[in-house]
Amino acid sequence: MNIQVLRNVFARNERAAAENREAFDARGITCVNILGGAGSGKTALLECVLPQLARTLRCAVLEGDLVTTRDAERIAAVGAPVVQLLTDGGCHLSATLVQKGVESLPLEELDLLFIENVGNPICPANFELGEHLRISVLSVAEGGDKPSKYPLLFKDAALVVITKCDLLTHSNFDITAVSRDIWRINPTAAVVTTAAFTGDGIDQVVEWLIAAHRARRPLVAPANV
Ligand code: MG
Ligand code: ZN
Repeated sequence: MNIQVLRNVFARNERAAAENREAFDARGITCVNILGGAGSGKTALLECVLPQLARTLRCAVLEGDLVTTRDAERIAAVGAPVVQLLTDGGCHLSATLVQKGVESLPLEELDLLFIENVGNPICPANFELGEHLRISVLSVAEGGDKPSKYPLLFKDAALVVITKCDLLTHSNFDITAVSRDIWRINPTAAVVTTAAFTGDGIDQVVEWLIAAHRARRPLVAPANV
């Protein structure tokens, strides 16, 4: 692939991402791109936060995967509208694929749109989808060296969720040291520790999401008042 072709791929993606963001902004939707390696706990995190968020916000999920609909089925089971995006083996989601998926969602009735990216700590970070916020997910089981090894995954995250913290006693994962590594790459990232199995930390993620949505929503007074 020559450099010009690569440039065109990125330019087309950026155009579609800008269009997606415009469509979300026009409807007051906050779009959250969830990134993390395979098995980091992205789907489990969504399974935990969606039922709680549903009391306050109208949520939907675009579920990225290579070939299966297994994660989308898990999201549907907790009652959230979900659209499966299959990359057909591709290792990241593109803004154009998101654009197609969004067509099947009731955009007028949404506050928060989650995009669960393909499980991959590397290239999804290079492709903007039109999101307003990124959440990076890192599990205790993956090991504490990941922020240093995959800095791009953490560089633009507004929130880093450390998952599977119920396994801390069975590992040498050091929350303090890992947080320091995250903040070296991204000084403003919020870091929350969670365990989907026990429910620990899930409230904090829910509160963070509600606050993030409220902070973004433009406070425009109706013109005719
Ligand atoms: Mg998943
Ligand atoms: Zn890729």
